[in-house]
Amino acid sequence: MSLLPCPILINGSWTTPAGVKTMPVNNPSTGEVIAEVPMCDADIVDSAVQAAADAFDGWWQTPPVERIRVMMRYCILLEANFEEISALIVQEHGKTMTEARGDLRRGIEVAEYACGITDMLKGEILENVARGIDCSMVRQPVGVCVGICPYNFPALVPMWMYPIAVACGNTFVLKPSEKVPLTANRLIELFEEAGLPPGVFQVVHGGRECVDALLNHPKVAAISFVGSSPVAEYIHRTGTANGKRVQAAGGAKNFVVVMPDADFDKAVDGLTDAAFGCSGQRCMAGSTAITVGSAAERFVPAIAASARSLTVGPTFKDRSVKLGGVITAEHRDRVASLIQTGVDEGCELLVDGRDVKVDEFPNGFYMGASVLDQVKEGMKIFEEEVFGPVLNVMHEDDLDDAIALAGRVSFGNGACIYTQSGRSAREFRHRVKAGMVGINVGVPAPLAYFPFSGWDYSFFGDLHLQGRESVMFYTRAKVFTERWFAPGEGDVWHKDD
Ligand code: NAD
Repeated sequence: MSLLPCPILINGSWTTPAGVKTMPVNNPSTGEVIAEVPMCDADIVDSAVQAAADAFDGWWQTPPVERIRVMMRYCILLEANFEEISALIVQEHGKTMTEARGDLRRGIEVAEYACGITDMLKGEILENVARGIDCSMVRQPVGVCVGICPYNFPALVPMWMYPIAVACGNTFVLKPSEKVPLTANRLIELFEEAGLPPGVFQVVHGGRECVDALLNHPKVAAISFVGSSPVAEYIHRTGTANGKRVQAAGGAKNFVVVMPDADFDKAVDGLTDAAFGCSGQRCMAGSTAITVGSAAERFVPAIAASARSLTVGPTFKDRSVKLGGVITAEHRDRVASLIQTGVDEGCELLVDGRDVKVDEFPNGFYMGASVLDQVKEGMKIFEEEVFGPVLNVMHEDDLDDAIALAGRVSFGNGACIYTQSGRSAREFRHRVKAGMVGINVGVPAPLAYFPFSGWDYSFFGDLHLQGRESVMFYTRAKVFTERWFAPGEGDVWHKDD
């Protein structure tokens, strides 16, 4: 198979940079190399940021309503190419077509939300803050914004960032994950086609060298990052030390509490999707189930049976499979070794997905679903984000203990409860330590108009991605205080009249 092109975009031109290292992009279902991604260096990053800086004045002065028209044409183009982009996500990420469509659909919803930017950019005014003096506030774009993305949502995560940033009047440099660069390129080709002026948008590819050049560039004003927590912390620390505003979303360890009064069929369905959907490669994955009291007796055998029933295979070919390959062979091996630490530390491996083989594609990065019971605090599998199709199961005597357990992890992304009791649900949502809470919902990921509100070790910064918080992040306030004199009063131009 010939390789797919993977160019970068600077000042309206797509080019393949010469003389830089490249890295292979694999199809996780086959293990085949489908493209070579260029690893951009500091010089390329400098050209990209410079182009964005040069385009800023023109784009900012473009009336918001004209910027919206570009965004509306973009939404139409995304719909027209919806299936093709979804198939590209399947090809380079390995998730199922249904999951890929969801990835793109949620992203398009952010672009649709950005079409309402005129309303969100409106300012405030208070007359007569003192006699004859008015005070007003407008929000202006911050300048060159950067987006640095993880591999697990090739469409959605970049789209958490750039539609709002660009609609606010900023220019943008996107650094997609080097593991899934092709979807991002296609998304931005269509954005250009929708009528973005050259320089408003740049795409650079690469790894740490490229990211460091962005973090250190004096003309970058704001950085949005999504990825693992150690890198998020580094990005936040370095970016803010360099005087930039930074929002950095990190990893997670999300708990799903199953109460004895839960609707068990719904809880098992919800947990199956939450733990094993996208092969567990979701920051909102329900990676730990906590049963309360007698819930364990019914829940544990049912979730194990459900995990065993999930078919594994090539998602691009067989649309009925539920689990595709994970992103790389190294990642598959890391997940497998984390499962082994659980076994070594005394967990009961109820379902072992490590030895799954797909005969037709022996080089694919396949893993089946795994369920580890009797997980305990302090175990490596409890502490670390696994990011694979693995469910930890733990047991507590009552809801208080379950809430307290969830509160002791360093992460704070999501927490869910399955119960039929309003009182238990209310107690849980009020007290649990997590920024996104689900009641009888396994993956409580907020949609475009709400912030993606991770806490603690899951988020570094103040203003989250999505919703009005992201409009605040991509703009800054300017406050006017004004008074007008009567003709001649205190006015130098009238002094000699
Ligand atoms: P990652 O941290 O390895 O990479 C993310 C980005 O950072 C990539 O663009 C990568 O090139 C860059 N990067 C990696 N190492 C770097 C370094 N040392 N210095 C500078 N840049 C570096 O994350 P990933 O494996 O691509 O994605 C999975 C992670 O993302 C998981 O931890 C997951 O929970 C997290 N995630 C979080 C959210 C959220 O909203 N909190 C959403 C999606 C994914």
